[in-house]
Amino acid sequence: MSVKELPGKGLARGLKVTFENLTRRAVTAQYPDVKPELPPRSRGVIALLEENCTVCMLCARECPCWCIYIDSHKETVPPSTPGGRERSHNVLDRFAIDFSLCMYCGICVEVCPFDALFWSPEFEYAATDIRDLTHEKDRLREWMWTVPPPPADDERAEPPKELAAAERAAARTSARSTRPDGVDRSEDVESPRGS
Ligand code: SF4
Ligand code: SF4
Repeated sequence: MSVKELPGKGLARGLKVTFENLTRRAVTAQYPDVKPELPPRSRGVIALLEENCTVCMLCARECPCWCIYIDSHKETVPPSTPGGRERSHNVLDRFAIDFSLCMYCGICVEVCPFDALFWSPEFEYAATDIRDLTHEKDRLREWMWTVPPPPADDERAEPPKELAAAERAAARTSARSTRPDGVDRSEDVESPRGS
């Protein structure tokens, strides 16, 4: 047996929703007068730390949108010691990202083995000309100033190996400088249990 709804019950329910929304605080974002508070790791724009880039091309190869453009040339470096061999290294001529094609997947940032690409939360780079959305390396470098610092280490994590290595090196240097004969007895410092 079906239960009949009281007449006007639907209208009352609709009015209840209307009144609830009338009394609720407005959530309209007042942008651009008030800047939104974005999470620090937001994907706004990609910054390039040019000094770290070795032109390995990994980011350009992995980018699913093919929107990273890299040009480079090789330069020869003379040997650092007499009789040594010349070395060649890549010099970055062009690094550009076309943000009109980029889908902000973050693959390039993830795959870069040399920490040359970072996310910045900055997003105010809209342009009226689509060509202005291709950021060349100077502009990508400027975004580095807006990259937030990395999150703090987990207190319970093991200390990084680099820290332990630096402490050992500092102890060796200090031990050497305090010996009157200047002989490196770093083993004494590193293995106090030896005696
Ligand atoms: S975020 Fe994704 S789409 Fe954008 S440049 Fe990097 S790899 Fe390409
Ligand atoms: S993956 Fe990193 S180091 Fe390699 S070309 Fe891209 S930005 Fe440069």
